[in-house]
Parts: sequence; structure tokens; C-alpha cells
Amino acid sequence: MNLGDRICHNCFRRQDKLQRCGQCKFAHYCDRTCQRAAWPEHKVECGAIKAYGKVPNENIRLVARIMWRLDKEGSVVSDMQLTTLDELEDHINDMQEEDMKELKVDVHNFLDYWPRTSKQHTIDSISHIFGVVRPNVSKTRLGVPPSCWPVISHCPL
Ligand SMILES: [Zn+2]
Ligand SMILES: [Zn+2]
Repeated sequence: MNLGDRICHNCFRRQDKLQRCGQCKFAHYCDRTCQRAAWPEHKVECGAIKAYGKVPNENIRLVARIMWRLDKEGSVVSDMQLTTLDELEDHINDMQEEDMKELKVDVHNFLDYWPRTSKQHTIDSISHIFGVVRPNVSKTRLGVPPSCWPVISHCPL
């Protein structure tokens, strides 16, 4: 069990016992109240995980959540300020060849995961978002859950 399994996907509180979403068996919540509160946003992700048949890696999940939020609100929240994604810097130009390869694999898997019923985006804009979130990826290895990355939501931890 990793750290992410013990953090409620809604309120980000750490709990020993969490209830799993009965649909995707992936999302975890303190209780039904948290589950219900998270549902409007989790609904699309939940369906995508079920259709994909597995949980994609954290980059892909994060990018998908950013895209869904963008499609809904036209912006993402970054440090409590609204920022449009075009203003965020991607790091594609400073990337090493190995990282570029990983990014391409992620983009490819993302396209399989992204539901056909959601708004479709160009490969360029998808790559841009992967480039934006990439520096945050190392933070997950330090134990910060992906749901907590500042690019997508203000982190209460
Ligand atoms: Zn909770
Ligand atoms: Zn679910």
C-alpha cells in the first residue's frame, strides 16, 4: 500500500481506513459524504478508468483531470490564482531524449485512456500539458499525491 492509497481523494486527509469507489475500485474516500462531494468531478475519470480497464499512470491521470477541468472551466487553478494553460510554461525544450521518449509513451497511452465522449484535443496541446506537469512528477516520488499537485488544485496538506 503506498501513501496515495491512504489519502482521501476528496479532502486529502490521511486515514487508515478508506472506502473504495465501488465502480472503479480505485478512488478512495473517508466516507460517503466525501465520496458524494467528489462525484461530480470523479464521474468522468471513473468512467474512463472502467473503460480503459486499468488505472493509467499518475501523469496521465493528472493530465486528464486538468483537461476535464479546462473543458469545464476554461482555466486551471494554480496557487489559488486562475491561470490559463497557455500561460504555463512547458519544459519540452529542456527535456533529455529519454524524457522525450517517456513523454511520447504517456501521450500515446493518454489517447487510449481519454474518452471519445470528452472534448478532443490536438497532440500538441496534450504534449504541452504533459510538459507542464512533468516537473511535478518527481514530487510524487517524494510522497505528495498527484491529486495534490498545485497545478490542479490548492493542496490542503
Ligand atoms: Zn475525505
Ligand atoms: Zn470511481
